[in-house]
Parts: sequence; structure tokens; C-alpha cells
Amino acid sequence: MANPHRIDPQLLNKLVHDALVWSSLHGLVVGDKNAERSGVVPGVGMVHAPIALLPNSFPESHFTQACELAPIFNDLVDRVSLDGKFLQDTLERTKKVDVFTSRLLDIHARMLQIGKKEDIRLGLHRSDYMLDEKTNLLLQIELNTISCSFSGLSCLVSDLHRSLLSHYTKPLGLDSQKVPTNTSASKFAEVLAKAWTEYNNPSAVVMVVVQPGERNMYDQHWLTATLKEKHNVTTIRKTLAEIDAQGKMLSDGTLQVDGETIAVIYFRAGYAPTDYPSESEWKARLLMEESSAIKCPSISYHLTGTKKVQQELAKPNVLERFLDNKEDIAKLRACFAGLWSLDDTEAVKNAIEQPDAYVMKPQREGGGNNIYGDDVRESLLRLQKEGSEEEAAYILMQRIFPTEFPTILVRDGICYKEQAISELGIFSAYLRNKETVISSEKCGYLMRTKVSSSNEGGVAAGFAVLDSLYLN
Ligand code: ADP
Ligand code: MG
Ligand code: MG
Repeated sequence: MANPHRIDPQLLNKLVHDALVWSSLHGLVVGDKNAERSGVVPGVGMVHAPIALLPNSFPESHFTQACELAPIFNDLVDRVSLDGKFLQDTLERTKKVDVFTSRLLDIHARMLQIGKKEDIRLGLHRSDYMLDEKTNLLLQIELNTISCSFSGLSCLVSDLHRSLLSHYTKPLGLDSQKVPTNTSASKFAEVLAKAWTEYNNPSAVVMVVVQPGERNMYDQHWLTATLKEKHNVTTIRKTLAEIDAQGKMLSDGTLQVDGETIAVIYFRAGYAPTDYPSESEWKARLLMEESSAIKCPSISYHLTGTKKVQQELAKPNVLERFLDNKEDIAKLRACFAGLWSLDDTEAVKNAIEQPDAYVMKPQREGGGNNIYGDDVRESLLRLQKEGSEEEAAYILMQRIFPTEFPTILVRDGICYKEQAISELGIFSAYLRNKETVISSEKCGYLMRTKVSSSNEGGVAAGFAVLDSLYLN
């Protein structure tokens, strides 16, 4: 692709204008943080989602590779989730120093103790990758098993880019067909509907667990509106506090909230310590877990997505415990970056010497939690000196350096010419009922592009923009 920084200024203005109009008309929007009620009242205080004006190049072979990994990771998550002892053992040391993870493990332990079985298991995942420039390897950043955002909006970005490319084919010299089809919203809605069908109670609803004041609500509304319009499934939205106040479990395990029977619980909250400001939220989480509602995710799926489990799975011979197919194992291993526990003295020594080659990660989700650069060295030295067990809260990961490229970002109606890097996420859905796998498929993609000088990649956190791909 030609350098978009060289686009004629007049054409650039037209493109930005068209992109902003398109986004407004098609619901590619988020709540505007400048509008007080934007996170509470839908339709109030909307702004276009932060976007890359044009799609960015990505090799087709690596895109295909990432797509092929989706069903294999689905299988892996399901298998690992069934091994309660593996999850407890892997996180045992972390538990001692990380209160949040410890609370999640307590719920998990309680479920093991009462012999809770989840016959119907639903996962809506997103596996994120970066393409390492030096090695030309597609390497996994992480696998998200809870509250994967942007399945509602990312398909719209692909539509927007295709629309711009086909309206400006000649001056841009780009082919809209090279932006791959993105079915993230419709696929996630379809699998949620299938899960609802498996629950087999026509009067039951899907409950979306939300954060109070969620500004990324339209991303969620895209899924629930599709559920309603295409599948005739009703949704309710509740915060954890509301679930505690309005929820109860009947003697047969049925979960009722606000008088509605819940077939499927879809978490878009509950992944961060701040989601649990009081005991009330933890009570709600436990109530849901104990119930017979289908959880997306269950506590086991949630824990399977932790960074510590990711690091454990990357150790020699661990994948073999969960998967039989040798080719699948090889494919997964090929996308694993270097991952180490902090009790690996050799790795820690190397990271202190070369902190820029590593990222230090706690057991957190949602962006903005990792440690980079000189802070890696300082943190490691501090932990060494204190000799504390706090080191078990973290893992070390090889830092991946993707190729920088020139791009145009649009945020708040203003366009910025930047040098950027990208992270590709592949959405996938998994649904099974006992021995029958009803669905295990890739569901679309999320491309996030961020200014290359920024360490973190969160869109909601304000570091990155939504993007799509131009295959080459
Ligand atoms: P979270 O669950 O908070 O999203 P991530 O592991 O995805 O945690 O890290 C957040 C961001 O940090 C990523 O989106 C990416 O931009 C950056 N990052 C994470 N791991 C690496 C890595 N190994 N190399 C380079 N950047 C990374
Ligand atoms: Mg994550
Ligand atoms: Mg992430």
C-alpha cells in the first residue's frame, strides 16, 4: 500500500468527512466521555469510534494462520477448564499475593467442592497476535476468555473501509475486496442464540453483565440488537450490584433476576478488581456460578484465560496433557512467544540486563496493567531485594516488535498522521452440550492500531484505534 501520509490534502478531507458521516449513520459509535450521561442513557452523547482512516496491510498467510488457530484454542480452553486441579495448582502461588485472583480461585474451589458440572459450555473468545518483524512470526499476545470487546464494532470498521475503498477506488488505487469479510457481531449473536436454544426455556432471557456507566455500550448493543432482530431472543442488562440485589436461585438451580429466568449470562464486566467494589458484587458472581444458567464464561473458562495459565501452557509437554492431535499442538506452539515464570532465575537475570526485550504482566485484563522498559528492571530488582512472594503475581513475556507503518488515525473528528503498529485479534465461539460440540469456529477479527511509541494497545483506554486489514 502506498504511504497514506502522501494522500492529497483535498482527498484526505473528503475521506475523513465521509468516514465520520458513515460512522454516525451506521452506529460505529461509542459514548463520549465529555458527555456526562453518555454511559448511562443510550442515544445521548455519542461520538464516532476512534478509527484508522484506511485499512492497513497485513499478510494473507498470517491472517489465515491466525484463523486456523481459532478452533484449536477453543478446544484447548475447554479441555483445560475441565482440569480443576491444573487451574488451582497453576495459580496456587499467585493466589497468595493477588487478592483478586484469589477470590476467583475461591469461587472455582467452591464449585469443585460441590461437584458443579457445566454440561452446556459457551466461550466467546478473542486470541490476539502481533507479527514480529525480525522473525516474521505471528506470535500470540494473549487469549481472552472473558468480556472480549469490539465484536460489535469491529465488523463495522471493515464495512466502513470497504465502502471508502469502493467509493475512492481510482484515487486510492486500492481494491475493497482485499478487506476480508468480518462477521464478528452476527456470529457472536448467532452462537449466543444457539446457547439460549440449548437451555430450552422459551421464556428465559440472555443477561448481559455490564459495568455501571459503560461507554462502550454500543459495541454490546450491536450483539443484543442482533439477538433480538435475527433470533428473537430477549436480553436484559444488569450490573453485578443489581444482580446481587435482584437475583435469586430457585431450588432447582434456576437463576432469576428481576423476575426473569436467565438462560445465558454474558459477562461484559467482572474481569477487573474495580468491578467488585464491595462484597455485594462477589456475592452476585458466586450466585451466578452456582446457578444452572449458561455462563459465558464460567469461572473455569475465566481462569483458563489468565496470563499465568498462558505461561504454564507454553512449558514443554503441557499442551500434550490437554490435546491429542500432534499437528494442532505444533500449530499452537508455533505462535507462542517466550513466556517465563519469575521463579526462573535465568529469565529474570536476562530481563534485568535487557528490560526492553521483555514485558512484565500481572494477572489483569483490560489494558494498562503491564510493565515495560526500565520499569521491568526496577520492578524485578525490587522484588529480588525484598525477596517477597509478590513475584508470583507476574509473568515475564518476550516483547514482540511489529513493523511500524505510516497511518492516519481519526479520533474525536480530528485526523492524525502517525507511525503505528497493529495487533490482530481473532474472535472465536465455542458451544457444546455434553459430548456434542455444537459450534467451534472463528467469528471475525479485530485489528487494533496504536501509535508505535505507546506500549499498550487498549482502544477503550484511549491508546489505540479500531482498524481492519488489507490483505497482501
Ligand atoms: P490485557 O489483558 O490487559 O489486554 P495484554 O497482554 O493484551 O493484556 O497486554 C496489553 C497490551 O500490551 C497489548 O494489547 C499490547 O499492545 C501490549 N503487549 C502485551 N504483551 C506484549 C508483548 N509481549 N510484546 C509487545 N507488546 C505487548
Ligand atoms: Mg486480555
Ligand atoms: Mg489484551
